[in-house]
Amino acid sequence: MLKIHRYSLILIPLFFIFSCSENKSVDIEIPLTSEVEKLVNHSKEFERMVTTYETPGGKIHFAIGYGIANSIMVEGIDGNIIIDTADSVYEAEQIYKIFRKKNSNPIKAIIYTHNHGDHTFGAAFYNTIQSEKPIIIAHEDTDFYMQRILGIINPIISERSTRMFGTIIDEDDFINVGIGASLNVGKSVAGYVKPNQTFKDQLNLSIAGIDIELHHAPGETNDQLFVWLPKHKALMPGDNVYKTFPNLYTIRGTTHRDVIGWINSIDQMRALNADYIFPSHTLPILGADISPTLTIYRDGIQYVHDQTIRLMNKGFYPNEIVEMIELPENIRNSPFLYEFYGTVRWSVRSIFNGYLGWFSGNPTDLDPLTNKEEAIRFAKIVGGNDPLFIALEEAVKNSDMQWALELSDRLLILEYKIDEVNNLRKQALTYLGKRSSNPNKRNYFLTSAIELNSDFKGFPKAERNEDLMKQISLDTIFKILSVSYDPTKHDNSVYKVCFNFLSGTNKTITLRNHIAAISENDFEDCNLSVEADDFDFKKVLGGIQSPVGSIADGSISIEGSNTAFLNFLLKFR
Ligand SMILES: [Zn+2]
Repeated sequence: MLKIHRYSLILIPLFFIFSCSENKSVDIEIPLTSEVEKLVNHSKEFERMVTTYETPGGKIHFAIGYGIANSIMVEGIDGNIIIDTADSVYEAEQIYKIFRKKNSNPIKAIIYTHNHGDHTFGAAFYNTIQSEKPIIIAHEDTDFYMQRILGIINPIISERSTRMFGTIIDEDDFINVGIGASLNVGKSVAGYVKPNQTFKDQLNLSIAGIDIELHHAPGETNDQLFVWLPKHKALMPGDNVYKTFPNLYTIRGTTHRDVIGWINSIDQMRALNADYIFPSHTLPILGADISPTLTIYRDGIQYVHDQTIRLMNKGFYPNEIVEMIELPENIRNSPFLYEFYGTVRWSVRSIFNGYLGWFSGNPTDLDPLTNKEEAIRFAKIVGGNDPLFIALEEAVKNSDMQWALELSDRLLILEYKIDEVNNLRKQALTYLGKRSSNPNKRNYFLTSAIELNSDFKGFPKAERNEDLMKQISLDTIFKILSVSYDPTKHDNSVYKVCFNFLSGTNKTITLRNHIAAISENDFEDCNLSVEADDFDFKKVLGGIQSPVGSIADGSISIEGSNTAFLNFLLKFR
């Protein structure tokens, strides 16, 4: 009999806070750098507190240090608004306990500055505290990007985020995440709530007597907005301004970030002459500090952008440009541009890639040798695998750790002394991680070292969450299915399954030419017809509900063979 237990095609992107039990000691000395001490000091930027600012337009309460992102409450006449909801329902609740003491009027609206979970996952909390749910306002593309994060780029985006935010590294090794104390998404279920009021370029509105201007402001994300409260002279720039070099590229992975858009967005903000800036990460910027800060910030970005393009046009390749660009001293020394989050080097590569794509231009790079061929030939030149291994040992002994990583890559491909190589590689990762003052790199390397422990069991799996499944659209579910299709599990005959959902939505999946084609208007010649409640179907694909149970209790009914349907699902596992 065919056995299908609960399984998941969708991995909900939660980032985890569990500590890793195994922290095998590495027996080389790792001297601390003064740069790492600076990073330790940088934690003062997000010590936990709620501060009230009396502005000309009324009170603004600013919560920092609860998880990674700030949350802001603006007081109105008979209600308040929340700008960004923190990274979890848990943190939103902690923050609101304080906000409520300041002013307990109902929350009339929530504004997301952009789609990222550290700004949106606390929203569901506000649906639980009052009968009238707050309206959720965002840019019109916010849900599109959220669906993509929840959908087809999972689980890879979660895994890389777990590394970058260091959520499983040992407490003693963890310092901060550059723009916040720590990511606490894993403390509760992800409480994203889909926006119900959106706009394209600009939206002016008045809520509870608060005059609000929302401006689309591409930068850190394409759906980014900034909030301008003209009566308060207060600006909420989202993630387009915070106190570290901006993340023009994020190593957890992202689509190309619009660097010119980012500069333009900051120029728009400069023109407002704000008296208060309440960023979504790090402390507020006030009064006379605002203008010089915004200016050097946008100039730092423009410098990296323009010099990358200039050198690109001279025919230099990304690896070369990375070596050629350094921020001028006055920009480099601005406390707003230390590389505690983004770096110039990664930005250069991303800007190059954004304009010219992945091909460096060097013919060697177009169709390079496979990694395996390269490793075999490399070993041959140095006299074999053993001399290569000795070179790795030497590199580690001399703390020449990037070289050690590159040698270990080749030895692992050659499958030579895998355990010893992994142990040396772990030492290199630990050394480089602990000496890095960039928390993204630091956390990524230290996590990668943990992954080499023999008892590493993979990243902890997210708790399934029905509320979040409700926020994932059926379109997203079918996109996930198409990119999860394993063509080796089908004989490549044409096979069509037609879905009729109770909501009235109809979809088909046709297996043909080694792909799963999704359609909404092609209902002839179905091999199987499936009727299902939308939510039950999502729960089955999310692993919350078993397909066998759903067929048995009638929430999914199949016209055709039940076994054939279960077999069909297995092709997407
Ligand atoms: Zn953020």
